[in-house]
Amino acid sequence: MKKSKSSIYNSGDMPASELKKYGYQFIDWITSYLDEIEKYPVLPTIKPGDVKNNLPENPPEKGETLDNILADIDKKIMPGITHWNHPDFMAYFNSTSSGPGILAELLTAGLNVNGMAWHTCPSATELEEAMINWYKKMFNLPQNCWGIIYDTASTSSLHGIAAAREQLSHLKIREKGMAGRNDIPQLRIYFSEQAHFSIDKSVITLGLGLESIRKIPVDEKFRMIPEKLKEAIKEDKSNGWLPCCVVATVGTTSTTSVDNVDEIGKICNEENLPSGQAGIWLHVDAAYAGTAAILPEMQWIFKGIEKADSLVINPHKWMFTPIDLSLFFTKKPDVLKRAFSLSAEYLKGYEEGATDFMDYGIQLGRRFRSLKPWFIIRYFGVEGLQNRIREHIRLAKDFADWIESHPDFEIMAPTPFSVVCFRAHPKNINDVDELNALNEKLLDEINKSGKLFLSHTKLNSKFVIRIAISSIRTMEKNVKDAQHLIEQKLNGLFE
Ligand code: PLP
Repeated sequence: MKKSKSSIYNSGDMPASELKKYGYQFIDWITSYLDEIEKYPVLPTIKPGDVKNNLPENPPEKGETLDNILADIDKKIMPGITHWNHPDFMAYFNSTSSGPGILAELLTAGLNVNGMAWHTCPSATELEEAMINWYKKMFNLPQNCWGIIYDTASTSSLHGIAAAREQLSHLKIREKGMAGRNDIPQLRIYFSEQAHFSIDKSVITLGLGLESIRKIPVDEKFRMIPEKLKEAIKEDKSNGWLPCCVVATVGTTSTTSVDNVDEIGKICNEENLPSGQAGIWLHVDAAYAGTAAILPEMQWIFKGIEKADSLVINPHKWMFTPIDLSLFFTKKPDVLKRAFSLSAEYLKGYEEGATDFMDYGIQLGRRFRSLKPWFIIRYFGVEGLQNRIREHIRLAKDFADWIESHPDFEIMAPTPFSVVCFRAHPKNINDVDELNALNEKLLDEINKSGKLFLSHTKLNSKFVIRIAISSIRTMEKNVKDAQHLIEQKLNGLFE
């Protein structure tokens, strides 16, 4: 074989010629997959253990060819793939990749930099800062807020609540911890009954304990009732609790309801904390719906956002960004830094004044995630992204109109974005349990068909089906096909 000059040839890695050959082959594989994705059932039809049992128990002693590995992707991995990139995947909040996002992921692995500190890769740090500024402009966020990219909304919210705890600096939790102390009051974290369970997990992880959670009731549109929050804070304070953090959700997981950030922000800002810092920390979870703020007509969702201390938006939910990428914004980066920064001798002594993102979170090593928005935003342009988001909202409204005009279905929550909550409700059935059983069966039949994947939630003890239209590949035809399938499966239950 002709000797390559490439360093990866000499290092013992795969020869450059092979990387090139299989690289083309892999791109061919990915493009054919995406072109022909509709030939696959959206959900795999296998049982737990089927994939694992088809894999060798021991690692190979000797290296194998990439031909073998690629063949096994088709044989052993594809049968167990849930096709998140499928246009008929309309469950949960869909997360789809896009061409520029896929290429950015490839480049990320090719460069393989670790952006823990500025000097460990200046471009990773500075592109991240530049992308944060782009996103701030696209979402029309206050220009004085600071931002960082984490992996998921769960991680972003954990950092928000950790900063809220650190803001109570007089408690010295960073130094002394919380266990075994009788000199600190119990802390309270407030969020609505509809908030995502990642917030509960953050509370557990931070050692605050589930008992510190106070869930605030919601109104008939599933939005936190600000008045109830105010009452809860007052009552807690008189009973010796110390309010630490309020989490508002813009786009709740079940129904995409929007908490009133402005009203909630006023309540938080009015409080005076013993640490001398005004206000209870307000964290806003806009993991899915925040993306809609790139549309001028949707900017109402962030009314009052300047009153919030931190905010999370996940481009991997609705901005065609391969998982993962979560944006965390805060107007108090100093508090976040106080919660997390530690320096180690081996990382000291480089550029003064540059950002070291390792100081703002639990992880040290950091992927070069900002390449993804750099490719995606430049490729589609803000206008291109706006058109796609606007189209999803239009398709969801059309679907909701169809449900509302259908005699056998009913809408179960407002549709502010691209998710519709509905259930079958034939005229002759009115018993709650019977309706729940009917809808559960209907969802099962739909998902078993392999032609569509929907998910569900429970609202006021009622089983509710959700359709989420947020895949870059979902078009009007897919939504119309979904309507036909849903109708056909309901009719099938009565045959
Ligand atoms: N917040 C909301 C409102 C969500 O809907 C979800 C997940 O769907 C999350 C947080 C958690 O997101 P992640 O998977 O990025 O942690």
